[in-house]
Amino acid sequence: MIYFDNAATTKPSREAIEASSAANESVYGNPSSAHVLGAEAEALLKKSLAALGGFLDVSPDEIILTSGGTESNNMAFFGRNAKQTTFVTNYAEHASVVAPAERLRNDGYAVIFSSLLRNGALDMDALEKILRESRGAFLSVMHVNNETGVIQDMDEIGRLAKRYDAVFHVDGTQGFGKHRLSLRHVDLYTFSAHKIHGLKGMGALFIKKGEHSRPMFYGGHQQGGVRPGTENVAGAAAFAAAAAKAFANMRENALRVTSVKDALLQRIGDAVVNGENVSPYIANVSFVGAKAETIVNALKDKGICVSAGAACNAKKAKAGILSHYGAPDNIAESAVRISFSPQNTTDEAERCAEVILETMGLLRKFQRN
Ligand code: PLP
Repeated sequence: MIYFDNAATTKPSREAIEASSAANESVYGNPSSAHVLGAEAEALLKKSLAALGGFLDVSPDEIILTSGGTESNNMAFFGRNAKQTTFVTNYAEHASVVAPAERLRNDGYAVIFSSLLRNGALDMDALEKILRESRGAFLSVMHVNNETGVIQDMDEIGRLAKRYDAVFHVDGTQGFGKHRLSLRHVDLYTFSAHKIHGLKGMGALFIKKGEHSRPMFYGGHQQGGVRPGTENVAGAAAFAAAAAKAFANMRENALRVTSVKDALLQRIGDAVVNGENVSPYIANVSFVGAKAETIVNALKDKGICVSAGAACNAKKAKAGILSHYGAPDNIAESAVRISFSPQNTTDEAERCAEVILETMGLLRKFQRN
């Protein structure tokens, strides 16, 4: 099996599994309990939060644990109070940003989807105009795109946001632990454990001190009442362990995935590589003349896992993120996402390229006959 679908999820690391098992076996108290087991659980929770905060250079009090990127993104939007009337985002965002934005629009809020350039970058002139005309808006932009790997210029976007008093939310789900980001201009930051070899169902939202967030549901006093419910202590410990490994090896990991990605791209001939300023963890490649599903299925038959887009859209009709970049239909329909982790090898990349070339060769032969 060759696993090239790491943007969908990653294999949990030994460190994450061990941290979670150790917590489940011996630190199983409720962190809110007054007895010794409770105190131990609370101490482990605090340690995990301190570690996560440390990687982002923020205070542990500014981190709210959630069930993952989806919940964090929803919390960022729906946590705004009624005074927030304008929301700005774009259609290249993950469904857990676009869907809340659309829901708010149906509820009567002003929601503006700003435009993207053909290379996947946000159109900064258009964005500036929107932010200027709706001062104090809520702006949500992802750091690294989950389908194309395009990295947005967060510094420039952050500066614009602050110039026009916007509340700035960043979906860092695909960037956390892989690409450094200063949160200087960022008010809310989403991150998730399972994209960095942590466990699924675990994520967090950084909420800058002073930045209010309304709870999405109500209950106990946990996490300052912003996100009540008994905390996932073992999941948080695993998240911190996965993050520690990712941050310690960030440079080395980037070099490794770059060599795997390069080995693949060098061998797939005339395929079109989509996006500019792209993360080495993701390749979005169009095989013009083929449908993405044909390539994905041919690879599946040979035990190679890739995808035709985000996993959450995999069972729906092609969402067509590239069409929001202004790509023609034949590019959008034939785009395959191949995503890497440091566990991949260049041999795997060579094998993947071989199967793709074989499949394209067969398709061309049939098309000619
Ligand atoms: N945002 C982005 C950019 C993602 O890639 C994903 C997951 O695919 C999410 C949010 C949702 O994260 P989670 O799966 O942790 O809910």
